Amino acid sequence: MSVRLTNLGGRASLAFDDRVVDVERRSGGRFSSDPMQAIEQWDAFATWAAGQTVGDDARECDRSQLQACVPRPRCVYAIGLNYRDHAEEAGLEIPRTLPSCLAGPSADVPLTSDRVDWEVELVVVIGRGGRQIAESRAFDHVAGYCVGQDISDRRLQFGDRPPQFSLGKSAQAFGPIGPALVSLDGVKDRDDLALTCDVDGERMQDSRTRQMIFSVSELVAYLSRTCELWPGDLIFTGTPSGVGSVREPRRYLAAGEVIASEIEGLGRLRNRCVAPAPPSPDV
Ligand code: ZN
Repeated sequence: MSVRLTNLGGRASLAFDDRVVDVERRSGGRFSSDPMQAIEQWDAFATWAAGQTVGDDARECDRSQLQACVPRPRCVYAIGLNYRDHAEEAGLEIPRTLPSCLAGPSADVPLTSDRVDWEVELVVVIGRGGRQIAESRAFDHVAGYCVGQDISDRRLQFGDRPPQFSLGKSAQAFGPIGPALVSLDGVKDRDDLALTCDVDGERMQDSRTRQMIFSVSELVAYLSRTCELWPGDLIFTGTPSGVGSVREPRRYLAAGEVIASEIEGLGRLRNRCVAPAPPSPDV
């Protein structure tokens, strides 16, 4: 059985179709309610979780209560220009974005300018940390995948010199992920999954992860050559063609529009764009 770890109202929960089981209660306290704790001991957790089935303690999953399935990674890597149909030429660009941008699969996204763009991406969740990870062993270090949106404010990203790649992607709710962290045995082909993004019902992106220039195992090996990877770290693996800023004519997100992002076997995010949040009051 594949494992689908969700974060329901801040509590680690196992998803079985539309029903969820609370991890702390089901495990009698062996695993805590904090989803990060499950990820930090992923091998033990996944072994336990794979033996669980939906039972009397299962509840209906209220999707509006789902939060980021990996709520507090140490680090979020965002790979730029990683799809053949998106990049003019191969060239890795790896900004780190801030974990405070992460949000749940149904979170509202406050727009920060009139040039906010969508980017559906496969997100890799590290399960076992390390440095100098060999490409051939990379998947031993991956807990699983989830769907992500790397929402990007092109005005902030390209308006400054030098460009602010990280800040442009780090605003509140600019990194919705979910709906669950899915173990790799839950996907048909870990190197070839269909991914799509619809904005208000219009298909904007439609590709497959085999189109990536650098595969998941290459990315894990590449990053770990320089950085120490930690359990729970996220790698946003880049987006295929069809983003708004390179469409003819250009198209950006407007308040009220819904971004639907889906990856085969991993589920779907549904995020509504809203007017910018008011600034925090002065203290
Ligand atoms: Zn991106």
